[in-house]
This record gives sequence, structure tokens and C-alpha cells, in this order.
Amino acid sequence: MIELYKTNAEVIAAGDKYLYGNHVRMPLSIERGEGAYVFDKDGNKYLDFIGGIAVNGLGHCHPAIKKCLEERANTILHCSNYFYNEPAVQTAKLIVENSCFDKVLFANSGAESNEGQIKLARKYAKDHGHPERFVVITMKNSFHGRTLATCTATGQYGVHRYFEPLPTGFRYAEFNNLDSVKAQMDEYVCAILTEPVQGEGGVRPASKEFLQGLRELCDEKGILLMFDEVQVGSGRTGKLFAHQNYGVEPDTCSMAKALGSGVPIGAVCARGEAAKTLTPGTHGSTFAGGPLACALAMTTLDVMINEGVIENSRVMGEYFREQMHAVIEKNHPKAVKEIRGLGLIDGIELNQPSGQPVVDLCFKDSKVLINNTAGNVLRFVPPLIVGKEEIDIVIKAVDDAMTKLGW
Ligand SMILES: *Cc1c(COP(=O)(O)O)cnc(C)c1O
Repeated sequence: MIELYKTNAEVIAAGDKYLYGNHVRMPLSIERGEGAYVFDKDGNKYLDFIGGIAVNGLGHCHPAIKKCLEERANTILHCSNYFYNEPAVQTAKLIVENSCFDKVLFANSGAESNEGQIKLARKYAKDHGHPERFVVITMKNSFHGRTLATCTATGQYGVHRYFEPLPTGFRYAEFNNLDSVKAQMDEYVCAILTEPVQGEGGVRPASKEFLQGLRELCDEKGILLMFDEVQVGSGRTGKLFAHQNYGVEPDTCSMAKALGSGVPIGAVCARGEAAKTLTPGTHGSTFAGGPLACALAMTTLDVMINEGVIENSRVMGEYFREQMHAVIEKNHPKAVKEIRGLGLIDGIELNQPSGQPVVDLCFKDSKVLINNTAGNVLRFVPPLIVGKEEIDIVIKAVDDAMTKLGW
């Protein structure tokens, strides 16, 4: 029998001894969660506005998710893609019926979903008489994952560094700058890939003109427009897909993070000709689309779509930005460059080199979990079930932290 540790400090000490040190962790071992709150082993309660990095869309221990897991324990967890399973079918049906897409291909993570899109784009070009096309244009400061192809697709040197030689076939353009994308176009390009709202890149929503311009450019050249909605899909922006806020329809779109409420799952959604490209033998995965992950995805999407969670994300996002704006304007007008977001992915860009001091004070003084991304952008990606009460607590925590820092 394993003897479990008794305190937060013991878990952290053992973690530092045994876990590979590739992640920088806060000194908090999370024992359990409830709604928008998590608890450590010592019984401390934290308000969770990181939500497992935009994964826990329904919050922790949602009753529908608990029931779904119980059912799975008594039915089946895995059966392979030699067979059909109803949760996969129902999840795909929910996505198709609530989007512009015709088909859904499952994967196990965000990176893997984007790999799927990249492979799809290359084969699409070959299928359509353009064997010379293989380049995917992506954006600077994007984030598409950590596998070799997706880290190369990621437009950040810090993500490429140490891993050369990188796979060929990626070029980078300026986000929200159509001319910069056009400057990268030539006969070798098979697709354009972008996040409609850059997440890791500092919570930067695309402009409507930019996404519309990309759509027109892709139509004109006969290449694919692919969106990465790993972070901002699954209800995060107040719509099932972020691009639904823009009225721009991509050919393919990836999902992951919140789709499975914490169990790994990803998806490539595709429409039209792009929904016919990956034929048997060209792509697949042992685990992808299994009954466990798909039952959770089906339940997650059902609750999000049919119980007002996506709508709550839209309304609470507006409340968050309004209230945060008022407090910052009043108390810290010089500390902040911009407050921006869409639904419940929100960011505060600071006039400071780093947001980490605010993150640390929110944690220590207010027991509020937020994070800092792209150097100096405070990021808020809470469960989509949060109410005004929780938002008020977070705004006060940020306000108090900035006051203490003299910002
Ligand atoms: C998190 C993220 C990924 C990578 O997802 P993993 O599940 O960590 O592989 C890719 N793209 C975006 C936009 C993300 O936010």
C-alpha cells in the first residue's frame, strides 16, 4: 500500500525530488476541487481563475460529469477504432449540429489536433492537383503545441530553440496584419493557420477584417483556412467556437482543452472538401475518440450548450471587463496598457515588464489563482460557470495586489 503524504509541503518536497523539472509550478498541491474553487491538502481554499489552463470549463466536480464518470466505470472505457462507440458519434453530432462543420476527427490533445490539421492541409493540396504545396503560414506569437511540427508552427523563437533542425514547411506572418500574410504567399503554400484569439500570445483577439481577409485570400488561392481553437473553442468566448463571433467560417478547426472537462481529448472539425481528405490509412490514433473521453465531451458540450453555460461565459466576460476597467481606471490607471478579451478569456496587458508579482500576491494574500502569459499579460480563464461574486473577488485581489506593489 502506498502511504500518502499528509501535507501540502510534503507533496511539494517529494514532487521536486521525483518529477522532471520541465514545468515551473506554484507552491500549491491541489487535492480536490468544487465549482470554481480548489483545495490543497492543508484545507486551504483557492478561487481558480486558471481552470487547468482553460480546461475546467464546467468547473470542478460538476454533477453531470460525476454521473458520466460513474456510468463509464460500469460500462466501457476503451474499445479501439475498429468499432463504433455511441459517445463519439453523439459528440461529433453535437459539434456538427452547432457549427459550420460536416465531420469530426478525434485526437488526444491540442497539439495532436493541430498535427491533424497540418497533415490534412498537405494531403488536401496533393488531392487537388497541387503536389508542390506544403507550406503552412502561421502567425508570430501564436501557440500551436509542443510536438515537433506544432512547435515549429508556433511563431515563437523561445518554443523552437534547442530543437533544430525543425521540420520544414512553416512561415510566419504578423497577426492582425493581412499584408504581412500576403507577403508570405506563393505557389508552395497549402494553408493558413491561426488562432482567432491568441491565448498564450497574450489574449489578443483577431480583428474581424483580418479573419475575413484570410478567408478571402484562401478562397482566391484555393488553400485551406485552419483555425486553432484549442483554447478558445468549447464555449470559452461566449459561442461554441470563437470564430462564430466573427461570422468567418474556416475549412478546419481544432479543439481540445475544455472539450473533455479534464480528460485528454482533441478534435479536428472539417467541412466541405476538407472533410473528405483523411482517408483510411492516412491518419489515426489508438486512444482518440474512445468512449471515456467522448462520453465526457458529449456531457460537457450538452451542459454547455443546453444549460446556458456558453451564454454565461458571454455575459460574465462582459461583466468582468466592465468592472475590471472601472477599478483599474480609478486606482491604477498608469499600471495598465489594455484590458481585452472575448467571453471568459480575458487579459490585462501591463505597463510593467512582468505580471508575476501580481500573480504571486493574488495567490499569497487573496488565495486567488491567475496566471501571467506573454511576459506581461495577466490572463483570466476561469470555469465558464462563474458568477459575479467570484469575478468581484478576483478584481479585488488584483486591485489589492497592484496597490501593495505601488502600481
Ligand atoms: C494549449 C494549446 C495548444 C496545445 O494543446 P496541448 O493539449 O497542450 O497539446 C495548442 N494550441 C493552443 C491555442 C493552445 O492554447
